[in-house]
Amino acid sequence: MTSSEPPPLVALRGRQRIAPFALVRVGDTAAAAEAALAGAVPMGGGVDLVDRMKFGERIERLMPLSGLALGGVEATEGGLRIGATTTYAALAESAEAARLAPAFARLVGGVANPRIRMKGTVGGSVMSQKPNFDVWPALMALGADLVFADGDGEARLPAAALAPDERRLLLAVEVPAGADARFAFDRSLRPIVSVFAGREAATGALRLAVGCAHQRPLLLRLAAGETDVAAAAAAALPPPKSDGLASSTYRRRMVGVLAARLARILPGPDAAS
Ligand SMILES: Cc1cc2nc3c(=O)[nH]c(=O)nc-3n(C[C@H](O)[C@H](O)[C@H](O)COP(=O)(O)OP(=O)(O)OC[C@H]3O[C@@H](n4cnc5c(N)ncnc54)[C@H](O)[C@@H]3O)c2cc1C
Repeated sequence: MTSSEPPPLVALRGRQRIAPFALVRVGDTAAAAEAALAGAVPMGGGVDLVDRMKFGERIERLMPLSGLALGGVEATEGGLRIGATTTYAALAESAEAARLAPAFARLVGGVANPRIRMKGTVGGSVMSQKPNFDVWPALMALGADLVFADGDGEARLPAAALAPDERRLLLAVEVPAGADARFAFDRSLRPIVSVFAGREAATGALRLAVGCAHQRPLLLRLAAGETDVAAAAAAALPPPKSDGLASSTYRRRMVGVLAARLARILPGPDAAS
């Protein structure tokens, strides 16, 4: 390039930015779990992952999960088990979800647009750990568990305990029986803040999962009987981010406002059990 030539236009995002990668094909869940621990990157619908690759993120070994027996929604003794590769659309249309977790199914049925709901999976949404995605904070508020492949078996983890560097294969999520009746959410200010609330059955405490306001969604817990939920939620919140959409102060205030509204419509501690 001579000094008189204009600099080349470098697209920030595009197929041409996807670096070469090896495709890892596995025949069953056990092989997928092993490959994930060895560094293969699982792909559910690929909505988030392919987007990141188009922005230049290097993935050396890509492992599609399609074809594995990891989808499906079923009632269990403890509640509702949702397979990791269940798409939003399948979950929103599931009769079991409508029966056992109608509010959560409604949330998932309202995410994004039909194209994304046909591709995006529950597992991909959780494991991306993105601040603006709704499924993971909703699961935190519901007191749900994440079920990972672990050796020859499964390991359960409360949704809020997911580590940023988790490498195991997510098999399913489990929503406890009855939790959905004590669950409500408000996405009306998304992507400034989103708040998901759940009442603990045993204690009446309020679980508040906050999305969009930090690097990752996070969970607050307010004791049963808290009279000023707005003030208590705002005070308990670690400093929210400031960006072109909203200041940290505004986000903190709105988390309090939405939390108080949700607390009012949830069954009170007396009705918790
Ligand atoms: C236009 C648009 C609008 C959107 N609107 C919303 C919205 O309103 N609300 C919302 O919540 N989301 C929204 N999204 C985000 C979308 O829901 C997610 O991108 C999608 O659910 C990710 O799922 P996936 O299966 O495609 O994940 P993938 O892209 O396949 O994977 C995401 C990450 O999870 C990992 N992963 C996937 N499956 C597993 C597994 N089983 N075990 C371990 N790791 C795994 C991958 O390695 C990757 O790191 C929107 C996206 C778009 C493009």
